[in-house]
Amino acid sequence: VPDALIDLRHLGRPRVCGVYLLEGSDGPALVDCGPASCLDELRAGLERHGLAVSDLRHLLLTHIHLDHGGAAGQLVRENPDLQVHVSPVGAPHVVNPARLQASARRLYGDDLERLWGPLLPVPEENVRIADGKAAGLEVLATPGHARHQVTYVDERGRAFPGDTLGVRIVPSPHIRPHAPPPDIDVEGWLHSIDQVGQRGPGEICLPHFGVVADVDAHLEELRRQLRLWVKRVGAGWTPEQFVAAAEEELLAGSDAETAPGYRSAAAAGASYLGLERYWRKRRERA
Ligand SMILES: [Zn+2]
Repeated sequence: VPDALIDLRHLGRPRVCGVYLLEGSDGPALVDCGPASCLDELRAGLERHGLAVSDLRHLLLTHIHLDHGGAAGQLVRENPDLQVHVSPVGAPHVVNPARLQASARRLYGDDLERLWGPLLPVPEENVRIADGKAAGLEVLATPGHARHQVTYVDERGRAFPGDTLGVRIVPSPHIRPHAPPPDIDVEGWLHSIDQVGQRGPGEICLPHFGVVADVDAHLEELRRQLRLWVKRVGAGWTPEQFVAAAEEELLAGSDAETAPGYRSAAAAGASYLGLERYWRKRRERA
């Protein structure tokens, strides 16, 4: 199996949402599987590499948000031997996705099914706790975007950070943090960025979207942009002001072809809500 990025063409749009197919130590592995609404594209992508869902040995979930792990239950239904690796914090929510579903419902409302498809539980016997090692890959706990987020590093030194390292539609230089509710942890996030940096990956494989080679510059720009967004919300910017500024930054750093991908993978309005909640919780504690 050649290592490959499979474009899930979410809602028909290329280069927004992807998963990585790896040659694992004991067979084909996927890093993230995408949402159930993209299963046909996932199947087509596997087929281009001569594979079917039934050939997969491992599914390594970076986190359980629906655009990353939404199809896991359906894949296990098709392939009962599939081992689903997920962080200790995320594991209970793939076994019983009721809370995950409710949280996604608050964010997406009636659009939930159209965007992400149905969410099926993963049987407990298929779940492997991603802690230390998973299917031969190193596991780093990298909370921030989500409390349960992990980053996998393979033996070639490639990092698979999920949404920890932002959204960047490669080769565009613009990096947009994605900070949706409910558990944005800014200090944890900045620490996680440092953690991955210290691990010294040669490449970063972003699900949204593509492989980043200028790792240090990427991390530096992500820190800058994240701090800026946090500061704006803390200073009381309105959602309208926040979204307008994000849009301006997006248009300055991307082009007409890639800009819609950023909006779709990381809606600025959702990041406003996540950062507003972060500040509210922080002030309640203080
Ligand atoms: Zn996410």
